[in-house]
Amino acid sequence: MWEPAGIVARVKIDLHTHSIASDGTQTPGDVARSAHEAGVDVFALTDHDTTAGWREAGDTAVALGVAFVPGMEITCTTRDGISVHMLSYLHDPRYQPLVDRIEEGRRHRLTRARRMVELLSEDYPITWQDVQDQVGPGATVGRPHIADALVALDAVPDRSAAFAGLLSGRSRYYVRHQALDPVEAIKLVRAAGGVPVCAHPMAPLRGRVASPADFEEMIDAGLAGLEVAHRDNPDESRAILMRLAAEHDLLVTGSSDYHGAGKPNRLGENSTSVRSLTRICEQATSGVEVRWP
Ligand code: AMP
Ligand code: ZN
Ligand code: FE
Ligand code: FE
Repeated sequence: MWEPAGIVARVKIDLHTHSIASDGTQTPGDVARSAHEAGVDVFALTDHDTTAGWREAGDTAVALGVAFVPGMEITCTTRDGISVHMLSYLHDPRYQPLVDRIEEGRRHRLTRARRMVELLSEDYPITWQDVQDQVGPGATVGRPHIADALVALDAVPDRSAAFAGLLSGRSRYYVRHQALDPVEAIKLVRAAGGVPVCAHPMAPLRGRVASPADFEEMIDAGLAGLEVAHRDNPDESRAILMRLAAEHDLLVTGSSDYHGAGKPNRLGENSTSVRSLTRICEQATSGVEVRWP
């Protein structure tokens, strides 16, 4: 039967997902297939500190009639040690100053993961090889891979339990990841022709969040938007973020932060407006474009 509601049905735009190129559990192609199955019309692959999945995810997406937005989630730390994740959309993946800084961060992630495994191995029968067995070829190493190794050793039931306990920021096995400053990340993303959007900007479960002064600095540096609709931002924080966005004319997004089976987040559980996606496209100057089917 003809459904008038179908015409005005919301377009589902999910701008934050992960594959095995970082710490998701599906190949980039399978993330695209899952997006299609979930009824997502446009999706971005935003693996941590890598663009390795762009080609495969994009090819699969367009073949299925799903639009693909190339993205990346850059791991950042403020000088006060607060963790910030900066999403970058449509930047030039070959812009050397950004590539160099990302590569440094990936190397530090390795050192830090090794150190955490060393500490864990004092109390659990875990080796660095156990962790490496969980990492896809060339993937960005993170705590999720240590979590997977702990699951394989039956030390914890699943990733979420590992993050709630042994791998949490309060754990004695936790080692901080010192990454690039969010202000520097924003400038590099803009220089690479990309569009920087702060991921889950107020997610208290992940630890201390950036201060109003931190946000002012990021905005002055060229921040384009805020990921407001994300399950880790509490309702009261979303109101604050919406006011900040209105005040500074920032675009707002909504996304799932899908990690496959690694996290409960479901594809399309939040959506970005067509208006915000348009603004992202308008601001990109790299020549990298959304791949439309
Ligand atoms: P790291 O970047 O190494 O500090 O690890 C943190 C990353 O683990 C975050 O970006 C999360 O997206 C990811 N992650 C994956 N699965 C989970 C989970 N079940 N609980 C919390 N974080 C998770
Ligand atoms: Zn992740
Ligand atoms: Fe994140
Ligand atoms: Fe993420």
